[in-house]
Amino acid sequence: MSSYEENYLARRPEYLCHMCGKCCRVVTTSIPYKELKKRSQKGEKGASDFLSLFEPYESIEVARKVDAAVVDNIINRLIDDGNYNEEEITFYCCKYLGDDNLCSRYHTRLTLCRHCPSSPWSIVPPGCGFEGWLFWQREQEKQKVRLLKEELIELELLKHRTSDSQMLDKIDSVQSKIRKNINLYKRYGSENW
Ligand code: SF4
Ligand code: SF4
Repeated sequence: MSSYEENYLARRPEYLCHMCGKCCRVVTTSIPYKELKKRSQKGEKGASDFLSLFEPYESIEVARKVDAAVVDNIINRLIDDGNYNEEEITFYCCKYLGDDNLCSRYHTRLTLCRHCPSSPWSIVPPGCGFEGWLFWQREQEKQKVRLLKEELIELELLKHRTSDSQMLDKIDSVQSKIRKNINLYKRYGSENW
């Protein structure tokens, strides 16, 4: 099992899902539709998998008529993150979602479906059963980053207490690894944690 599966997916309590189907009925991607199609034509698996399931709504307004709360939640989040560009945003619905809100190919659903919500920072529909759990996971990740920042400070202080060049090199190397780890969270705002 990969560390992503061990650290995140295997711990995710599936029973929290109340099978409302909202995350299959109105979704978007960070990549514009035109670009997704290009990538799919070039054989990129992620893009091809997505387009094999999801069909685009004609417009944001049409998607809003299906579920305004989900559309507005996504748009507000994109605005907050500074990533909202109405020209580039497309909403989609999965063609395998049944009228009963259940997946008609649940047992053969693709990895992208099995991984959803795929990270503590995934945007989930308002009222999604995972909301509280994802919040808790984000707080745990933030706490890890805070501890790493504390370690950086301690190492910086240690540097001022030694003149041993080998020791200083070791400290630099450890600090560099810690900074790399912290940078993994930069896109989620780790500078402010
Ligand atoms: S295939 Fe099933 S689980 Fe995946 S998006 Fe469609 S309805 Fe949802
Ligand atoms: S929106 Fe959340 S609760 Fe609803 S089906 Fe998707 S994962 Fe489950």
